[in-house]
Amino acid sequence: MSCCLRRENYVRVTTAFNRLLALPGASVTDVSFSPEGVIVTVRLRRRRLACGGCVQLATRLHDRRLKRWRHLDLGAARCHVGCELRRVWCLDCGARSEAVPWARAGPHHTRDFEDLVAWLAQQVAKTPVRRLMKIGWDTVGNIVERVVADRIDHGRLPFDAVGTLTLQEPTTTQLSQQVDP
Ligand SMILES: [Zn+2]
Repeated sequence: MSCCLRRENYVRVTTAFNRLLALPGASVTDVSFSPEGVIVTVRLRRRRLACGGCVQLATRLHDRRLKRWRHLDLGAARCHVGCELRRVWCLDCGARSEAVPWARAGPHHTRDFEDLVAWLAQQVAKTPVRRLMKIGWDTVGNIVERVVADRIDHGRLPFDAVGTLTLQEPTTTQLSQQVDP
């Protein structure tokens, strides 16, 4: 996309995707279209190194690697977020990719994507969740486990009057971005 557009148009595209995705701590640097969908390249605004495993600040840079996360669909197109991450050398965890605010450590899905999957899994059976989000059967279960564990770690796990787990309802934007398969 960037090669055939004038500079001012290119800036407008990245600005539009910054506002559209609103990923915390990220700045969009490029947008491209591929057979896989929309690839949104971002850079991490934070300069300090933080271990992706334990989130401690780190001082040693190990190397850099590209990482990609599946994000909520944009209309009929899948959306992927890509970023070159620094890998840090953590005294407790060893070599780990740095932590990013828009995704949990490890998985290849953004927090928005995982939160929506977890909420849907609470509302309906696993099969419609799998079909709507276009993910594997096991992936639904893995995401739910991660989201619940994350909420427990952060003390943000609300239960209703009968002790049933209730996950936060997604925004209208999150729901509308996921098209019916
Ligand atoms: Zn660590």
